Order: sequence, then structure tokens, then C-alpha cells
Amino acid sequence: MDDCIFCKIIKGEIPSITVYEDDDVKAFLDISQATKGHTLLVPKKHVQDIFAYDDALAQKVLTKIPMVAQAIKDSDPKILGLNIVNNNGEVAYQSVFHSHIHFIPRYGKDDGFSMAFSDNSAKYDQDALNQTAAAIKAQFN
Ligand code: 5GP
Ligand code: ZN
Repeated sequence: MDDCIFCKIIKGEIPSITVYEDDDVKAFLDISQATKGHTLLVPKKHVQDIFAYDDALAQKVLTKIPMVAQAIKDSDPKILGLNIVNNNGEVAYQSVFHSHIHFIPRYGKDDGFSMAFSDNSAKYDQDALNQTAAAIKAQFN
């Protein structure tokens, strides 16, 4: 895609610091370095987000996640954990509309990255949860 920054990175038209590459994916350091070693894994095929994957693309891209995670973890003994984040849609903080997976190494609670899940459990009774689950389950049929 012509005006996509990650397609330009994949084609080498914009420089990037690559850590892994094969026929289907490229992994390179995120320019923002939320923490040291923050890496992006992208499919070489331009797809906007997770909703654009078919099974074949998922097989080519998503199966590489553990391998990239392991390489990052093993690259520095100071890495204690790793957040893997995939934003889909502007409302979900996606800013580059070429699907990508963030790998954010964690060095401690005060390493500059944070993510918080609100506890809204009090808002949902069993019926509400069952209804939500049924709506999702129905999509697999
Ligand atoms: P999103 O907000 O879409 O989940 O993440 C997009 C990421 O792409 C951001 O973390 C941002 O720092 C990164 N990014 C944007 N432009 C470039 C670039 O030109 N080079 C690199 N390496 N990363 C970029
Ligand atoms: Zn693209």
C-alpha cells in the first residue's frame, strides 16, 4: 500500500532496525522504545488489523510470536517479563493501520510502561455474562 509507513519500512524505503525477517514477516525496533527492546512484528502483506487475517496469514504471522518473544527475553538478563499488545482500531489505540504486534520487554514496575484493566465485575450478573458469552459463541457456528 503506497501511503503506509510499515509497507515503506518493509520495502526498505524508510530505514528500520530489523531484528528478524523471513518471507512473511518482519520484526523491527519500535521508534518509540516504550521500554528498551520494544519491537514490532508485522506481516509483509498489508492488512489493516486482526480482522483482516485469514487462517493462512494467521499461520504465517501469529505462530512467530513465541519465537520473537523468546529471542527478546533471551537478549537481556534484565528482562523480567514481556507485554504482547495488538491494537485494532483507533478506539483501541491503533495509530498505524498496518497490522502489528508490540513486544514490550518489562524490567520492573517503574520501567515506564503501564497497562491497567479496570475491575467492572460488579456491573455484570450471571445472566448478563451468559448473554454476552452466548452472543460471542453464536459467531463460531
Ligand atoms: P499503534 O499505536 O498503531 O499500536 O502502534 C504504532 C507504533 O508504530 C507506535 O508504537 C510507533 O512508535 C511506531 N512507529 C510509528 N512510525 C514508525 C516508524 O517510522 N518506524 C518505527 N520503527 N516505528 C514506528
Ligand atoms: Zn502497509
